[in-house]
Amino acid sequence: MSKFWSPFVKSLVPYVPGEQPKLERLVKLNTNENPYGPSPRALAAMQEELGDSLRLYPDPDGDLLKEAVASYYEVPAAHVFVGNGSDEVLAHIFHALFQHGRPLLFPDITYSFYPVYAGLYAIPYAAVPLDAAFAINPDDYQRPNGGIIFPNPNAPTGRLLPLTAIERILAGNPDSVVVVDEAYIDFGGDTAIPLTAQYDNLVVTQTLSKSRSLAGLRVGFAVAQPHLIDALERVKNSFNSYPLDRMALAGAAAAMADREHFEVTRARIIADREALTAALAARNFAVIPSAANFVFVRHPQRDAAELAAGLREHSIIVRHFNQPRIEQYLRITIGTSEQNDALLRALDSILG
Ligand SMILES: *Cc1c(COP(=O)(O)O)cnc(C)c1O
Repeated sequence: MSKFWSPFVKSLVPYVPGEQPKLERLVKLNTNENPYGPSPRALAAMQEELGDSLRLYPDPDGDLLKEAVASYYEVPAAHVFVGNGSDEVLAHIFHALFQHGRPLLFPDITYSFYPVYAGLYAIPYAAVPLDAAFAINPDDYQRPNGGIIFPNPNAPTGRLLPLTAIERILAGNPDSVVVVDEAYIDFGGDTAIPLTAQYDNLVVTQTLSKSRSLAGLRVGFAVAQPHLIDALERVKNSFNSYPLDRMALAGAAAAMADREHFEVTRARIIADREALTAALAARNFAVIPSAANFVFVRHPQRDAAELAAGLREHSIIVRHFNQPRIEQYLRITIGTSEQNDALLRALDSILG
């Protein structure tokens, strides 16, 4: 705090990301990064860009990437918006598409950036409790609101909401924008992107950080009808004309086109998630069924914060949220088979 800060800055409560340790030898299962490297074709495309062309600004519209996303999802390129990570795309959505007169609705247990953006843009919100099994009940979203947002699968629970339930939320809220944040959809669910053709109030966001292993590149996108995309472009072009650099555009477009690398790595992660789920259940953990690249678990006899501290002593970091309802849970990212085995060995040693 400083006397030079504006009252607004004093009031901000910023997001706290998971730790990025400087020690290389830690087994890092705390921020849902992909344990496998990015597409070799994406790396080659970025190498290509690494030269004289960097003296020139990138394409402000990011058309190469919009076309790659459009071609992957078989939608028109005019229905795609791209940004510097899906966090930036989400920030523009909050700014451009949520109303201020009624509360924005999102689950009580969800991505903790949503209340932060609501604070940044002074959007009133109401946290809607998940049910006892940590599922979203679509009936809870049939009430006056200035917008609705939730991840699918939800984070940090990993629970998937079927498209039929999403359609009920969409149909019940024709005058609000409904945002489905699909950061983890590639690990076990059907995307809602095809529904954007039919629902003029639906925005679907995705990221290349998780299933395409490019968290370090910072690329995300949204798909929606052009009247919604235009609002996002207006905000983006009032803030930063070039949020994606030349390497990011080339690398992300190549990653979207490399279906083989994507399919092979995500299949491995899904198989390892199922194996880890069974192994944790065998150790008496309650594991919420996950459609993501992480599991959300609780041990009936062991305190979650103590377990997390014990794992750290074994050089393994996982995420613990000190937050009502979930303080006894740990979120564990699916690593390589070797990393998952190291986690299980460490747990065996801690649990005795
Ligand atoms: C990781 C994540 C994001 C952000 O992804 P970036 O593209 O890396 O900014 C958005 N939403 C949820 C739910 C996430 O878990």
